[in-house]
Parts: sequence; C-alpha cells; structure tokens
Amino acid sequence: MHYFIITYGCQMNKSDSERIAAVLENIGIKSALNINRADLIVVNMCSVRQSAVDRVYGLIPKFDKLKKKKSGLKTLLTGCILAQDKKKLKGKFDLIFNIKELPNLSKLLFVKSGISLRSQLYSASRYDSYLKIPPLYSSLFSAYVPIMTGCNNFCSYCVVPYVRGREFCRPVKEIIQEVKHLVKNGYKEIILLGQNVNSYSWNMKHGTWNRINFPKLLKMVNDIPGKFWIRFITSHPKDLSDELVDTMANCEKVCEYLHLPIQSGDNQILKKMNRGYTRQHYQKLIDKIRQKIKNISISTDIIVGFPSETEKQFENTAKLMRWARFDMAYIARYSPRTGTRATKMKDNVSGVEKKWREKILTEIFAKTALKNNKKYIGKTIQILLETKRNEYFYGKTRTFKNVRITTNYESDTNIQIKTGEFCKVKIISATPWGLAGEFSQAP
Ligand code: SAH
Ligand code: SF4
Repeated sequence: MHYFIITYGCQMNKSDSERIAAVLENIGIKSALNINRADLIVVNMCSVRQSAVDRVYGLIPKFDKLKKKKSGLKTLLTGCILAQDKKKLKGKFDLIFNIKELPNLSKLLFVKSGISLRSQLYSASRYDSYLKIPPLYSSLFSAYVPIMTGCNNFCSYCVVPYVRGREFCRPVKEIIQEVKHLVKNGYKEIILLGQNVNSYSWNMKHGTWNRINFPKLLKMVNDIPGKFWIRFITSHPKDLSDELVDTMANCEKVCEYLHLPIQSGDNQILKKMNRGYTRQHYQKLIDKIRQKIKNISISTDIIVGFPSETEKQFENTAKLMRWARFDMAYIARYSPRTGTRATKMKDNVSGVEKKWREKILTEIFAKTALKNNKKYIGKTIQILLETKRNEYFYGKTRTFKNVRITTNYESDTNIQIKTGEFCKVKIISATPWGLAGEFSQAP
C-alpha cells in the first residue's frame, strides 16, 4: 500500500505532514512516487484564506476520477479545517481527522474507514501528544521543530485560534532532545516553529522550578554543541522582548533574520485587527533590533483591504513600508473568514482595489529590497547549499536570502560540492528576491 500527502499552508502544516508520513510508514504504508500510484491520499489543508480552502474543493473531481480507476483508493483530510467546511467535505473524504488524533490514526483508519493493514497493531498510540511522534523529515539537513502549536491572540481576521485551538507548548526536554538528535545526524539548520514563539513558556524543574521562556529556550538550543544555524518563526510584535533581542545578538548560531508581521501601518486598522500594538511601537522595535543586530534582515506579513481600510489608512501602511525597508514582505488581500470577529465588519474594499493596493506595496518592497540586496555585492558570505538544478546550485544566507550559484567551480576543480553543506560564495549580482554568486573556495 502507498500514500501520497498534499500539504497546503504554513511551515507548521509542512511539519505536521512529516509526522503524518512517519505514522503511515510505521504501519507499513510506503510513500508513492506520484498521486496516481497512491492507495491513500492525505490532504493537509489550510483555511487562512478562502483561496487555500478552494484548492481543496478543487481536488474533489480529481479524486473522483482517480477512484473510478482504482476502487480501493482512500482519501483522508486533516489540517486547519473550519467547522462549515468539515460538514461540507464529510461525504467527499473517507476520513476527516484532527491532527491531534494522529497518534490513533491506524485505529481511525480501521474503525472509521475500514482500512485494515497487516501491521496496524504497531501504532503511535503510545504518544499522548502528536508532537511527540518522531517525524519523517523531508530534508536531510534542514528541519522544522515545532515548539508550540495553537494561538491565544484572536486577531480579528484570523482562523488559527479556531482551527488549531489554544496555545500548547512542547516540553523543553522534548525540544532539546529532538534538536540534539538532529545535530548528531548532521542537520545544519533548525527552524523552531510556533504561531507566536514569543509566548512560549514551560516550567521546568532543575533543582528549583524555573520558567523557561522563548529567549531561554533559544539559548539552550544555541548551547547544543555543533555547527548549525537556528531560525524561528513567527514573532509577534506585541510580545517581542528586549531579552529576545539580546539573546539573538549574543547567540552565534541564531541567524540574523527576523520575521515580524506588521499586518498594517495604520493604528486604527491595527486596533480593529486586535493586534495589540501601534505603528510607533513596531518602529521602535525595528530601530532597537537594527541597532543591536548588525545586518539583520527583516521580513513581514501585510493584509491589504481589511474592512473599512481607507486610502489614507492604506497610505500609512505604504509609508511604513518605505520606512521599514523590509527584506521580504508577504502581502495578502483580506479574505473574510467565517466565525472570526472581522466578519462582523463589512468587507467593503473591492477586489480590484485590494489587488491595486497589493501591487503598490509590492513595488515599494521591490525597491527597498533591491537596495538592501545590492549591499551584498562584492562580499563573500557563508551559504547553506540546498539544491542543484541544471547548471546552478541554490542556497540561503544566514539572513534568509536566496542565492543562485554558478557551478564552474565544480567542473574546474573536480571537487564535489554537496547540498546540505556550508560553503563560501562571492555575491556578484542582486534582485529584490535574491542574490547570485559564485563559489569562492572549496566548501
Ligand atoms: N502567526 C502568524 C501568522 C499566521 S497566518 C502571525 O501572527 O503573524 C499567516 C498570515 O496570513 C498572517 O500573518 C496574515 O498576514 C495572513 N492572514 C491571516 N488571516 C488572513 C485573512 N483573513 N485574510 C488575508 N490574510 C490573512
Ligand atoms: Fe492568527 Fe494573530 Fe494568532 Fe497569528 S497571532 S496565528 S495572525 S490570531
């Protein structure tokens, strides 16, 4: 029997899919090379925007066709699912399960959809939390390590607290064990995950009881011996503390990169979004971070066309963007989500206007990011090599910049350049979205 997983959405969903794969392999199901060869298809869905939900509905005719060809084909749905979609999709999938039920997946497969497997008895049910299940990492050198899941913030536009539930933190010991295991196995990049990593908190007994907050956890991960990089996503501007900025500055493995979603540059809109900070607070944070961590790169998320956003309020976001000179900006058009508080406000910015606002912000971003990236030209920097496609290698800088690298070095010297290794690259050109360079010495 073979499985195929389709994952939509954020890094957390990608990480969850690695745990789903581990459970399926444990009960004797193997990975299919492509969807047509699968006997079991798992869709791990995202509901943050309607467009992500529509993609799942779009899969159904395809699944029906596949089922006609292969009668035993089973389809499963999990991830972030709104109650209304769960109802509608119920008859369309053989099993819909909550990711928290993952330890009991083999039982669910049998009881709810009649799938019987030879090795079904070997299950992950001994784990009391799905995050304890050792994942089947999709990369051999870069790993997502969730430190928490869920969210308590209830930003007025967001479904995450409804579909993922309240914050749940993993024990410190479990996180450290997972990272140690990864580093021992040669992993070079550890990405700590949480909807709001800044509110991580765990009480740990070490002689006396200690509260381990996120900066302390980061320091503990940094203290694990080995040569590797540490990243983390996502930080919330209302919770990013001085202690975290200092910890980032003092921990050599923590990369000079921060994802700090602002969502809007207008105080009234921020209030309606229930974000819990002002534009001025955000600006002070950026100033402090840039002062303490030289060359830090900062990315953000922005929503355009939030209910009642006027042109003037939008202009405040545009102004903030020019000021902030972001290295990356993920710009989304507001999408009303059932059950969230923002749906009580009228979605009164037209689709055309949202598109226009998105275009304006993208243009500002492209200008400032190009300026930022040009500063790399002529410098030789460390890169983690990720892939090789055709005549190019691709990798990332500590500052999370994509780098395309020409491979003449390999052909010139016959030295094997391997993905998953650090190397030195001389940057020769830049675009808003990345850098291009050439190897400057043997990796
Ligand atoms: N926890 C993170 C992000 C979670 S969702 C944070 O606090 O920022 C990822 C991004 O999707 C958000 O930052 C936001 O920009 C976008 N998003 C969330 N809900 C949205 C909605 N209803 N419409 C458009 N974009 C949305
Ligand atoms: Fe959603 Fe806000 Fe929580 Fe982020 S902090 S997941 S945007 S509710």
